[in-house]
Amino acid sequence: MTQEFDIAICGGGLVGATLALALADSPLRVAMIEGRQPAPPTGEAWDSRIYAVSPRNRHLLQQLGAWQRLPLDRIGNVQDMRVRGDAGGTLHFSAVDVGSDELATIIENSTLQTAIWSALADRGNVSLLCPARPQGVEWGQQAATLILEDGQTLKTRLLVAADGAESWLRQQAGIGISQAPYEQQGVVANFECSRPHGFVARQWFRQDGVLAWLPLPGNRISIVWSTHDAKAAELKALPADALCEAVAAAGGRELGELRLITPAAGFPLRLTHVKSLVSPRLALIGDAAHTVHPLAGQGVNLGFQDARVLADVLLGAGRRDPGDYLLLRRYERARREDVMMMQAVTHGLDRLFRPQQAPIAWLRNAGLTLTDKMGPLKRLLIRQAL
Ligand SMILES: Cc1cc2nc3c(=O)[nH]c(=O)nc-3n(C[C@H](O)[C@H](O)[C@H](O)COP(=O)(O)OP(=O)(O)OC[C@H]3O[C@@H](n4cnc5c(N)ncnc54)[C@H](O)[C@@H]3O)c2cc1C
Repeated sequence: MTQEFDIAICGGGLVGATLALALADSPLRVAMIEGRQPAPPTGEAWDSRIYAVSPRNRHLLQQLGAWQRLPLDRIGNVQDMRVRGDAGGTLHFSAVDVGSDELATIIENSTLQTAIWSALADRGNVSLLCPARPQGVEWGQQAATLILEDGQTLKTRLLVAADGAESWLRQQAGIGISQAPYEQQGVVANFECSRPHGFVARQWFRQDGVLAWLPLPGNRISIVWSTHDAKAAELKALPADALCEAVAAAGGRELGELRLITPAAGFPLRLTHVKSLVSPRLALIGDAAHTVHPLAGQGVNLGFQDARVLADVLLGAGRRDPGDYLLLRRYERARREDVMMMQAVTHGLDRLFRPQQAPIAWLRNAGLTLTDKMGPLKRLLIRQAL
């Protein structure tokens, strides 16, 4: 059986589902194909995969009707951020400096995913094919045809690859990538602390990587310790008490004693540049289009903006063919700079704080402290991050 669509989105992670939601009320016929059954809500348990969502993207998700579905007791706020270098450098950002309520909102992956999917299900006019996976694709002049593993065929004027860093669809389209593994993993885990975090996100640039403590509701924090593979393996293998001790000590016991509430998990880190974000009848969004080092917590934030910009281009195109290459190039032009800048900044910071000789260590720490003292530069950085 062949079904016809204007837009078929392959991948229903946070980014693909946000695009589907942004297109849901339009006359466009939209399908979303997701390979995995969505994870059930975690109930009382906390998800170790946490995102720092920027105010801009919180606003986007509010406009789309997803944010209002988040349980209030699972949302954490960042009002201040304290960054420490490995030789005494410090940098302090505050939402107050730029007249904002917060620098970011901390939310669990599964909670956010459930909210977006439930908003999507209520709209009812996006065809959700889940669990389903494509096994073949044909690129035609007028349409692309996606053949699913269960034998269904979808004919669509535009395919959107939102299927993550290893994107199957990007590979099928032959879009080249350059990928640099960081030879690091992001080790994530959640803890309860004996002292209140005060809504402060803390980050340490250490000799063995970058450690971030993000405030969750209550006296809880979520950590991301981006560190070389051997150290990551060591951390993941530690018994709970020893892991608590290692994390508390690495953060100078700023929040007192820690108690592990979700086991540690590790995610390999890599930098991915794609040769192009679009080709005829195809657009790439989210991790299918780029990956960045998580030290600035910006990966999914970039992806949400991809979804917003692509939706704006498609909705603004009236009756024009959504798979038209020249139309898709508008999306590419609008996103290139943002993505490249974030990749350059996060990659540069990672390189700068890798162990090096003493003069460089001094310089990078002096740079942090100097930035802290330069009000206009600091405010510019905060606005960029927001
Ligand atoms: C340790 C760590 C910490 C991070 N912290 C942050 C943070 O604080 N803030 C932030 O902004 N970002 C953060 N990121 C980045 C963030 O995790 C990613 O950018 C984000 O998950 C990308 O979302 P996505 O929807 O593009 O891709 P994914 O989350 O990878 O979703 C892809 C979806 O496609 C589906 N899929 C895959 N292949 C197929 C197929 N062939 N057919 C059908 N479906 C398919 C998958 O099942 C999945 O649901 C972090 C990353 C790491 C590693």
